[in-house]
Amino acid sequence: MPNNLKELINYGQTLNVLFIEDNEEVRIQLEKLLKNFFSNIDMEENGLDGYERYIDFKNKNDRSYDLVITDLSMPKMDGVDLCKQIMKDNPNQLILVISAHTESKKLIELIDIGIYKFLQKPVDYNNLLNSLSLIISKIKREKSYVKLETEVKNIKDHNEKLNELVITDKLTSIYNRRFIDNILNQRFSDLESNSNKELSIIFIDIDDFKLINDFHGHLIGDQILVEFSQKLKSLIRANDILGRWGGEEFIIISDRTNLESAKSIAEKLRKGIENSTFTKVDKLTASFGIASYEEKDCIHNLIQKADYSLYKAKEEGKNKVCFIDNLNKL
Ligand code: GH3
Ligand code: MG
Ligand code: MG
Ligand code: MG
Repeated sequence: MPNNLKELINYGQTLNVLFIEDNEEVRIQLEKLLKNFFSNIDMEENGLDGYERYIDFKNKNDRSYDLVITDLSMPKMDGVDLCKQIMKDNPNQLILVISAHTESKKLIELIDIGIYKFLQKPVDYNNLLNSLSLIISKIKREKSYVKLETEVKNIKDHNEKLNELVITDKLTSIYNRRFIDNILNQRFSDLESNSNKELSIIFIDIDDFKLINDFHGHLIGDQILVEFSQKLKSLIRANDILGRWGGEEFIIISDRTNLESAKSIAEKLRKGIENSTFTKVDKLTASFGIASYEEKDCIHNLIQKADYSLYKAKEEGKNKVCFIDNLNKL
């Protein structure tokens, strides 16, 4: 007798069992024994009703019975066909066959179908007790494994969400400043080892955004920031990285991109914004400041160049793409 029998019997109370037996006398006798282990037993008197009950349970509960216990010789559908059908529907189903059959051909067929255990009628109580203990421990082990797997998956999903939150700007859902700073650092260290030394950044600042806030209110201002970001995102290339630099300022980091390419990217964006419509405002424009990496540039230099370029675009009347190639020329 297993030493954790009490624990197994307790666990058995949480399981759902389907028991199919056509002989009334055997059914009543076995039911009495099974009731010592399980409290949720559905019973049927022939294979066909058993199969229908099996499918019905699956449809209603979105899972299968924990255990099917069946006889072999039964009217309408015999036990072998029933097991075949069930295993076809659910190859993981645990089936215990209790039968008076001793034909080895039949037993081999049952093994081929994949039933879990066979018990000879008349059932020896100790045999039944041992078999059910084994079956319940197996179910318990497998369920706790599935539970563990689900928990691990939940933790992974949760971590992924957290990671996404850490790198995402709350309002616009594009990358935030923290992520952009990291990417800039990464790109600069890549430049040291890359043979391709091309890297450009584009600063983008919405023109007269304060007026929009003043005129339509802060909430509409927020909404326009979201729409503006989405518009930019739809216009950039897959490898370019768009982030919110702060307020109504944005940045694009373009790897392997020289000044000429950066200019045409910025010009495409400028036109795209100019020709778009946004909530409440008919016209919206933005100014663009470009900086491309030159030998001996550090991150700070590159950002400063983009900043001056943007300043120049504002000075020259806004809705412009500007660049200064060398800080020393200022
Ligand atoms: P310029 O053309 O020179 O860039 O003028 P501007 O009005 O766009 O620039 P300014 O720096 O004067 O004003 C920027 C405004 O952007 C002021 C600030 O309240 C607003 N702003 C910054 N962040 C947010 C935000 O998250 N939501 C809203 N609604 N407004 C913001
Ligand atoms: Mg029978
Ligand atoms: Mg600004
Ligand atoms: Mg602005």
